[in-house]
Amino acid sequence: MKGIAILGSTGSIGLSTLDVVARHPQEFELIALSANKDVAGLRRQCHEYRPKYAVMADAGCAAALRAELCQELPGTRVLSGPEGLAEIAAADETDYVMAAIVGAAGLLPTLAAARAGKRVLLANKEALVMSGKLFMDAVIEHGAELLPIDSEHNAIFQCMPVNYRDGLTRAGVSRILITASGGPFRDYPLEHLADVTPDQACKHPNWSMGRKISVDSATMMNKGLEVIEACWLFAATPDRIQVVLHPQSIIHSLVEYVDGSMLAQLGNPDMRTPIAHALAWPERMESGVKPLDLFQIGRLDFTQPDPVRFPCLRLAFAAVAAGGTATAVLNAANESAVAAFLEGRIRFTEIATVVEATLDEIPASTADSIEIILDADRQARGEAANIIGSLSA
Ligand code: NDP
Repeated sequence: MKGIAILGSTGSIGLSTLDVVARHPQEFELIALSANKDVAGLRRQCHEYRPKYAVMADAGCAAALRAELCQELPGTRVLSGPEGLAEIAAADETDYVMAAIVGAAGLLPTLAAARAGKRVLLANKEALVMSGKLFMDAVIEHGAELLPIDSEHNAIFQCMPVNYRDGLTRAGVSRILITASGGPFRDYPLEHLADVTPDQACKHPNWSMGRKISVDSATMMNKGLEVIEACWLFAATPDRIQVVLHPQSIIHSLVEYVDGSMLAQLGNPDMRTPIAHALAWPERMESGVKPLDLFQIGRLDFTQPDPVRFPCLRLAFAAVAAGGTATAVLNAANESAVAAFLEGRIRFTEIATVVEATLDEIPASTADSIEIILDADRQARGEAANIIGSLSA
């Protein structure tokens, strides 16, 4: 039995993880579940899965959940705040940590899991975007296992040779091709993009996801964050990574070899496949996902992304090239801009404006410590708030 802690169990990835885990009761034991403010959702999950720990990041919500569960489920300890999240990530009973908190809030608990030498199932791409070097160093130093959950990185991982950590050139890999659906606005008239609503932006054609990542998919900042994530996971330089628009979301990414071979991983767009892969690795297990019907799919299309339509992609490539804290600044500015867009304070097209202006204002420095990274994150949020204020005034 492997003990699992799910950071962000009430979210889209959290729910898919619970679905896969529930199919294998002999293999996995749910040790800990967590949410931010969704007291009712976490309470429901506690009743269903009876974890040892339940963590609410918000202290007030933790008190409310504690008051309810102390009578109903005395076997479940309710913890709170970032300390509670770090505690379940590093607990002795925890073998695997699903890192599925959205945004920068996921960084410290995910890092705690790496430092405790756990198997880290990484959905929270923001952790690597903010602190790639520190995070990868922690994984190596503490003997953690890092398995990518993002469908693209999971696909790349499946297509990589076993010795890819010796360096891509040595392993015979020439390029990584990351596929992208292009989101809901791939073919939307450019002149109307400024007027799209949050609900339109969150309506992804192929995937069902949380609202922040859905907006990131619509701007293609999500792909930009994935390029940065891939650089760290696979020790790749950005010039070795190409983004390919593939509207059907059937090929989840590809690896090109020097001999002319290209390996791809295909599957229905359902996050339970990468989750099951990472839980079972190096073996395989059933995920509940329907097998692909190639005859029904019929054709697969590929095009280049349009840089005018998707400026966030250029900004992400520029940030990873700048290095240091630039990617943490990019991430923080993007989180602020997406939140402002979802609240109706800025237009969709202004998300890129906010990110670019914030990057221009805050010079990149070396990202040597978590304090420096968190400070860059704070500065970027302050700067982005000013820019958003001037745009929405
Ligand atoms: P959701 O918004 O659906 O869920 C986020 C989860 O994190 C919820 O459990 C939420 O709790 C919790 N949470 C939110 N804010 C905080 C906080 N400040 N502190 C602690 N917990 C918090 O997100 P997704 O599941 O869509 O995405 C999760 C991560 O996985 C993201 O990094 C995303 O980029 C990545 N990812 C997602 C994919 C997908 O298909 N959804 C695909 C690939 C990667 P509450 O419910 O209380 O708000």
